[in-house]
Amino acid sequence: MKYIGAHVSAAGGVENAPANAHGIGATGFALFTKNQRQWVAAPLTAAQIDAFRRACDHYGYTPAQILPHDSYLINLGHPEREALEKSRAAFLDEMQRCEALGLDRLNFHPGSHLQKISPERSLDLIAESINIALDKTRGVTAVIENTAGQGSNLGFAFEHLAYLIERVEDKSRVGVCIDTCHAFAAGYDLRTAEACDKTFAELERVVGFGYLKGMHLNDAMKILGSHVDRHTPLGEGMIGMECFRYIMQDARFDGIPLILETPDEQRWPEEIALLKSLAEG
Ligand SMILES: [Zn+2]
Ligand SMILES: [Zn+2]
Repeated sequence: MKYIGAHVSAAGGVENAPANAHGIGATGFALFTKNQRQWVAAPLTAAQIDAFRRACDHYGYTPAQILPHDSYLINLGHPEREALEKSRAAFLDEMQRCEALGLDRLNFHPGSHLQKISPERSLDLIAESINIALDKTRGVTAVIENTAGQGSNLGFAFEHLAYLIERVEDKSRVGVCIDTCHAFAAGYDLRTAEACDKTFAELERVVGFGYLKGMHLNDAMKILGSHVDRHTPLGEGMIGMECFRYIMQDARFDGIPLILETPDEQRWPEEIALLKSLAEG
């Protein structure tokens, strides 16, 4: 079963996200559990948590269909102690919000070295950050997203993901989310079925599909290896439709949230319907 959806709005409260997902025909969804551009948010109330869980039941969404995303402000590999501590506290809060909502995974971008420390040192800090958060929570998997490698962002190479997993103590609560746009921007070709075979064989060899807890389905505005993180609607970028047909027809992508982060949300119902038809085709 393919769980296909988009990163939907949680404006007015997390409890509104399931209806927004249902409204676009989604069988999975992503959301922010707090304002993604602010460090601190009011704690979720018991009423909100209850309303969220009831809405998920009502529309038929289980945790395996939902991929919460953390705040963009967080940098778990920050070179400076004070900023690192701030990020770690915010990340723990995000993990705890997921735990309270009964969600089983949290998607995040690993972090950036900001040219102040080595990539290895920053990756070590990220692994330590993950271990700290896992120690203080239960039932929520830390899902590391691959990046385009823009600026000093780490996580663009599958080897970075493997390096982090290697250093996480509880391997049962670490996973990865592969964003097709980011992978392509990082130099992993996805334009043909043969290219997809090769890229996903590489993912299996370096990381392992056992760790795959979600996908972000985005076409890419810039060329292969550009390291530029710019999404386009499916089939309108440099990747093209073949990659998404490939993913929809491959059982290795069953049972995990497959999430659109394409720029024109008016088109999500159409893009979701297209992906569903490719999954059946
Ligand atoms: Zn993404
Ligand atoms: Zn992106």
